[in-house]
Amino acid sequence: MARHQPLPGQEARQDLPCAHRGGPAAAPGRPPASRPVPEARGACFAVVDPATGEAFDEAPDQQPDALDAAVDRARAAWPGWRSDPAARTAALLAAAGAVEAAAADLAPLLTREQGKPLAESYAEVARTAARMRYFAELDPGRVPIEDGRPVRSEVRWRPLGPVAAIVPWNFPLQLASAKFAPALAAGNTVVLKPSPFTPLATRLLASVLADALPEGVLTVVTGREPLGARLAAHLGIRHVTFTGSIPTGRAVAAGAAATLARVTLELGGNDAAVLLDDVDVEQVADRLFWAAFRNCGQVCMAVKRVYVPARLHDRVVEALAQRARSVVVGPGLDPRSQLGPLNNAAQLARVESCTARALADGATAAAGGHRLDRPGYFFAPTVLADAGPGSAVVTEEQFGPVLPVVRYGSVDEAVAAANATGFGLGGSVWGTDLDRAEEVASRLECGTAWINHHAELSLAQPFAGTKESGVGIAGGPWGLYGNLQPFVLHRPPAAEPGGQAWR
Ligand code: NAD
Repeated sequence: MARHQPLPGQEARQDLPCAHRGGPAAAPGRPPASRPVPEARGACFAVVDPATGEAFDEAPDQQPDALDAAVDRARAAWPGWRSDPAARTAALLAAAGAVEAAAADLAPLLTREQGKPLAESYAEVARTAARMRYFAELDPGRVPIEDGRPVRSEVRWRPLGPVAAIVPWNFPLQLASAKFAPALAAGNTVVLKPSPFTPLATRLLASVLADALPEGVLTVVTGREPLGARLAAHLGIRHVTFTGSIPTGRAVAAGAAATLARVTLELGGNDAAVLLDDVDVEQVADRLFWAAFRNCGQVCMAVKRVYVPARLHDRVVEALAQRARSVVVGPGLDPRSQLGPLNNAAQLARVESCTARALADGATAAAGGHRLDRPGYFFAPTVLADAGPGSAVVTEEQFGPVLPVVRYGSVDEAVAAANATGFGLGGSVWGTDLDRAEEVASRLECGTAWINHHAELSLAQPFAGTKESGVGIAGGPWGLYGNLQPFVLHRPPAAEPGGQAWR
C-alpha cells in the first residue's frame, strides 16, 4: 500500500476515530488476523472477512461534506480531462498497466473482503485492466447525416460531466471498471461508490490509479447509506450509472429524477437454463454447474433455475448433485478452495430462507440444503430436485449456491416458464441440435442468450437487461455512447454560404 498515493480521505484518516489501514490481506494460506466486529465508531465502519465472520479492517464512513468535496473535485477536473482525447487514451492505458502491476496487492484484499477464491480475484483484476484497455482505445467518431439535402450535418459526441458510479459487492473491481472505464474514456470524470461490504480493494484500486490519472478524475467515496442515495441525487452529477438489485435501482432512478441526470441501471437477474430433450447431460454438466455456482452463485448472470424435460429430471439432478457434493468449499485464500463463503450475513440468511421455503414447498435437496457448521458465511452447494415452478427459489433471485431443477412437459411450457418473471437479464438453451436450440433461445425474453454456454461475455458486446433487469446499455461501443451526448452541427455547403441550411 505504501507505494501507492494516498486517496482523498486517506490523508485525513489520522483525524478519524478509526485507524483505517486498507493494507493488503494476509498471504494465501496464512490465517487472517481478525477481531470481533466493533460497534460503528463515528466516521468509520467495519469491513468483515466473510470466511470468518469477523472484522479485519475498516473504511471511512464519509458524510455529505466529503461527498460534496468529491463531486467538486470531479467538476473541477472535467474541463481538463475532456479537452484532450489522446492524453486520455494514454492515461487510461497507463492506468490499466498499473492495475496489472498491482495484482498481487489487489487480489488478496479482494478475496479477503469479498470471499471468492484467490484465483478468481486475480482473474477479476485482469478483467478490470482489460476493460480499461478496451475503452481507452474506442473512438466514438463522427457520423454524417445523409438525407439528400445539400446541407452538411454531422453528429459529434460530447461527454456528459461528472458521473456517479455505484456498484455492488459481487465483483467490486470488475463492475467498477465497467462503470468508470467507459465514462472516463468518453471524457467524463467519475465519483465511484463501492458497496460498504467491499470498500477496501476499490480504495486500493483508486490509489493505484492515482499515479496514472490526473487529480479529481476518479474519486472513490465509501460509506454506509444514505451515501449512495445522496450521490445518486447530487446536483453536481450528470449521469448515474448503477449496478445492483432491482429495488435499489428504483430508488436510484427516483433520486436521479430530482436532477434529471441520465440513468443507466444494470439490475438483478434470474436466468433460466432450458435443457432440450436431446441434450448430452454428461457433456454439459460441468459447464452448467459452474454457470450456476461460480462466485458462490453471486453473479447477476448466473444460471439460477434449470428447466428439464420430465424424463431427464433425475439424470440432470444427479449429474449436478455429484458435482455439488464434490466441490471444495473453504476460505478464498486457501488455494484448495473452489467455492468461498457468501459475502455477508444478510445474503446467507436470504439463501437459507429461500432454500427452507423451497424444501417446505416440496422440493428435495439432492445435495446441500443447509449452511455449513463453521465460522463465516458458508452454505453447502445445493441442488434442489422437483422444485415447484412457483416456489420463491425459482421466481426470485436467490443469489447464492442453490440451484432449483424444474420439470417441464413441452418446450412451449418451458419457454413460458422461463419468461414468466419480471427479470430479463440472460438465458440459455442446451441441446445437440443447434438450429433447434437457436430457435428456442430466440424466444427467451432477455438481453443475452447462449446455446450450450451461459454468462460468457465479450467486452465488445452490448450488455443490457430487458424488463426489470435494466435500463440503458453497457458494454462495447454502446457503453461508450451511454456516457456521451450527441451534438449535431449543421453547416451549408461551401458553394452556398448561408444557403439552404435551415429549410
Ligand atoms: P444493492 O442494490 O443492495 O446495492 C448496490 C449498491 O447500491 C451498493 O453500493 C449499495 O451500497 C448501494 N445502495 C444501497 N441503497 C442505495 C440507495 N438507496 N441509493 C443509492 N445506492 C444505494 O445490491 P447488492 O446486494 O450490493 O448486489 C447484488 C445485486 O446486484 C443482485 O441483485 C445482482 O443481480 C445485482 N447485480 C447486477 C448486475 C448486472 O450487471 N445486471 C451485476 C452484478 C450484480
